[in-house]
Amino acid sequence: MNQFQYVQPTKQKAAIEALVKNANAQFIAGGTNLLDLMKHGIVAPEKLVDINKLPLKKISHENSSLRIGALALNSEVADNKLVLAKQPLLAQALNAGASGQLRNMATMGGNILQRTRCPYFYDIALPCNKREPGSGCSALAGFNRMHAIFGYSDKCIAVHPSDMSVALAALDVTVVVAGPQGERQILFTDLHRLPGDQPEKDTTLTRGELILDIIIPDTPFAQQVHYLKVRDRASYAFALVSVAAALATQNNIITAARLAMGGVAHKPWRLSETEKSLVGKPVSEKTFQEAAEIAMRGAQAFTHNAYKLKLAPNILVEALKTAAGIA
Ligand code: SF4
Repeated sequence: MNQFQYVQPTKQKAAIEALVKNANAQFIAGGTNLLDLMKHGIVAPEKLVDINKLPLKKISHENSSLRIGALALNSEVADNKLVLAKQPLLAQALNAGASGQLRNMATMGGNILQRTRCPYFYDIALPCNKREPGSGCSALAGFNRMHAIFGYSDKCIAVHPSDMSVALAALDVTVVVAGPQGERQILFTDLHRLPGDQPEKDTTLTRGELILDIIIPDTPFAQQVHYLKVRDRASYAFALVSVAAALATQNNIITAARLAMGGVAHKPWRLSETEKSLVGKPVSEKTFQEAAEIAMRGAQAFTHNAYKLKLAPNILVEALKTAAGIA
């Protein structure tokens, strides 16, 4: 057991200062991922800065946007009346994630920042560039059934595990963060990184930055939405592939679309070109199959995950059909 210091500040400024004072300190909230990482010996922080006393749990609707505090629990958000009325896609994605017990502990900020479930990342006996930069990637020639088909590098082929983040990527979300240099806002689609040459960096957050709020602008997509997740078990399993789909239609013609995929890349995979291709087209299976072809451009599989090249477009079509009400 590694010894570590534990502090529980009640002010945001004090929490950030407590973190930056020690280069090997980490924030902790629900702990549903970090404690596993500590138990497996993947991380060994010298100090935990518990942020649970910070006032970051509020869910409100203001300035035509839903504002969700980073410490709101996944289960609270999924059941919240404002969320269900304004952003049911988010509620669907939250309920598809983890288990009831975990959703009762996991926070919104922690869900966004959870780390990959690549099995080699969790096996400290094997090389992993994300855990130990420069050591190699065991998944490249290993059992890469769960791994990426988009946006990977020769340093890392892991995928981001969050369901909720796939919905957030589709919904034009902004994240408010605070750090030693003050506050800033980041587009959600710019928050997570592709692995490139630095797979150890999951996000574009800088040292000491803390997620405060998630802002979701009102959209015309409240009704025609669907989050579809395919996984090995009906519960408590990460996505093999998932799709967050949202449509706006008028007289059976698509006027706007939002789409993102999970389980396919190092970050939630927004499908902007596919969205554009849908606008002006009639709601039909043919339209959705053409969109799926566009979505899959550039996809490349490894030895054990070629099934994703068929599964992903099929799920995309099914998610769009359900969102459009023609399933
Ligand atoms: Fe590590 Fe990424 Fe390779 Fe998995 S895919 S072993 S996380 S470097």
